[in-house]
Amino acid sequence: MTAITLVLGDITRQRADALVNAANSSLLGGGGVDGAIHRRGGPAILQECRRLRASRYGRGLPTGQAVATTAGNLDARWVIHTVGPVYSAEEDRSPLLASCYRESLRVAGELGARTVAFPAISTGVYRWPMDDAARIALETVRSTPTTAEEIRFVLFDTPAYEAFTRQLG
Ligand code: ADP
Repeated sequence: MTAITLVLGDITRQRADALVNAANSSLLGGGGVDGAIHRRGGPAILQECRRLRASRYGRGLPTGQAVATTAGNLDARWVIHTVGPVYSAEEDRSPLLASCYRESLRVAGELGARTVAFPAISTGVYRWPMDDAARIALETVRSTPTTAEEIRFVLFDTPAYEAFTRQLG
């Protein structure tokens, strides 16, 4: 039985086996969660991201996929980087957003991570409406087979926390 929990806070202050980063495909840092993770996690994470760009992901990490690195100075064993889709009102990109959660959990399973913390992927600069993003996130983790014992959503502000609370039901 996997517990799905919600907390209001900063993902870089969490202790978990794996912290998921809402990265961009360059893997070389950005704003929001990505900036916070690299700032607080220190240079070891970026170093490993650069190595990934020089090897498996020469063209960047595709949207909807996930890859793990060290967690540097964060209170975690791994950071799992995933690239959310930019929201579009014209095109339904929800399968890609669902894929971020599914692929992150698959990578977490390969690593043996028992506790996994997620931010609300794509709801920042990628502009996904919070209620819809919360619905997709929760539906996906509920329907994905996982060996994780806890899947924790770390919501950065009260509106995000409330949206996830409503969708958790
Ligand atoms: P994306 O590019 O996928 O939209 P962002 O990092 O811009 O990613 O934002 C994703 C969500 O994470 C937003 O709801 C934002 O408010 C939230 N967020 C920003 N910083 C943090 C943090 N340190 N911890 C948890 N959530 C955060």
